[in-house]
Order: sequence, then C-alpha cells, then structure tokens
Amino acid sequence: MKKINLEKLIIIKAGSSLTTLSSGLPNLKFIKSISEQIHSLHQKGFYIVLVSSGAIAQGMKIWNLSSKPKSVDFLQALSASGQIGLINSYQKELKRFNLIAAQVLLSHSDFGVKNRSENAKNSISNLIKLGAIPIINENDSISTEEILNGDNDRLSGKVATLLKSKKLFILTDQNGVFDKNPDQNIEARLISRINLNKFDPKSVSFGASGILGRGGMTTKIKAAKEYLKKNNEVWILNGKKEGIVEDVLANKPYGTKIFLA
Ligand code: GLU
Repeated sequence: MKKINLEKLIIIKAGSSLTTLSSGLPNLKFIKSISEQIHSLHQKGFYIVLVSSGAIAQGMKIWNLSSKPKSVDFLQALSASGQIGLINSYQKELKRFNLIAAQVLLSHSDFGVKNRSENAKNSISNLIKLGAIPIINENDSISTEEILNGDNDRLSGKVATLLKSKKLFILTDQNGVFDKNPDQNIEARLISRINLNKFDPKSVSFGASGILGRGGMTTKIKAAKEYLKKNNEVWILNGKKEGIVEDVLANKPYGTKIFLA
C-alpha cells in the first residue's frame, strides 16, 4: 500500500451541535454537506479522518429524554444505541459518492498505552490507504471517568498527533473563537489568529459547552495546546457554512487559526 503524504492528511472534528438537531434526530443536512465536502477533498487528493460526536445526543432521542442524564450507566446506554444511527447516516451519505465509511471507536486511555495506540494508528492508516473514510468517536461503553469528563475536541487532537497530521479542523456552530461569548454579546469580536505562545486565556471569556456535547471553546483550546507544534495548525470553523474546510485550504479568511510561533 502506498505511503500517506502527511501534507495531504487532514483531521476534521464535528461536534454534536452540528451532527444532531435540538430534537435529537441526526442533522441530515449537515451530514450530507460534510459528506459532500469530504468527497470533494478526497477528489483533490486529501486523506480525511473524521472525528464525529453525536452518539449520546442521538441516544437521547431513542430513549425519549429531553435532557442529558448524569448517570454513567445511562450515558453508556445512550452512546451505544445512538452511535448506530450516527454512523449509518454517514455511511448512507458517503455511499452516494462511492466512499466507504469505517467506524473506529477509541478511548482517551488508548493513547497512553503503546501497543494500543500503535494498533489504532496502523488500523486508521490502513483504512486511509484503502481509500475509506475513518469516522472516529469515543468508545463510551468501556469508559466511566471519560464518559463524564472526556470530549471529542481533545480526542481529535490526540488522533491528529498520533497520525502526525499537519492540520486539525474543529467544526462547531460558531464562526471561530470570540473575545466574549457571541451568544450573549453583540459586540463580541472574532479572533482570527491565536499564537498560543502569546495567548492569555484571561483575555477571552468563553461560554459553557452546548447542551448536547461535552466540549466548548475551553476544550478546543486545550486540544490545540496538546497537539500543536511549530509545524502544524488548528482551525476553529463554523461547520454550518458549506465547503468551509475547502475555503480555508484555499486561503479564504474564515474562522480562527491557532498556531505556535
Ligand atoms: N462522544 C460523545 C458523543 O458522541 C460526545 C463527546 C463530546 O461532546 O465531545 O456523544
């Protein structure tokens, strides 16, 4: 199998606020649009790994819950049942472009154990070389601590580190990182560049995570801190805008670029 050109390898993370409607049903419009974008990038020779949240949110619909439960047992049940619908939606949309979706479930602790992280790396790399689109989520059924505290922002950073990808695109429902919570302040200003070496987290006040997911801007910055080196970059982008990753790759001025300099 041919080697992966790391310059062409990109990791895209999609949060629950994008993959799931507030009703708990899969957001088919988003899943369709990201699948189209993956196809277009794939045609241009990019290798794509998608980290997608939404299992718990979609499980809430299956179990008819209007708010996210706190108990680990229930969260695991929601995740196990919701993941099926999530991955099926991606499989269906990617199939329209003759692309193969491949599910990979990882827990944060897998990255700390050498043979497990090596296995994950080999298996994801092989899928990419075979032309499939790996779709990663947390393996919530085998984690207890993580189902309460883990998040897919940091998972996507760990995946990007493991695969040595140069670009991580974190898609969310905001236009990027703002100095104030844009939902509560009309004068909130988008910060288009963040050099993490000079960044004072006190200069911004982030909102809490959304009602469906576990992340928020704080975990996105944490993910960036853990992943960034001098030769790679993280982008926080609005996933509701169609073709946003392609636009940024074509140097269009969207979102927030986070880097080290
Ligand atoms: N893995 C969780 C899910 O699919 C979401 C974690 C997160 O929101 O970051 O529901």
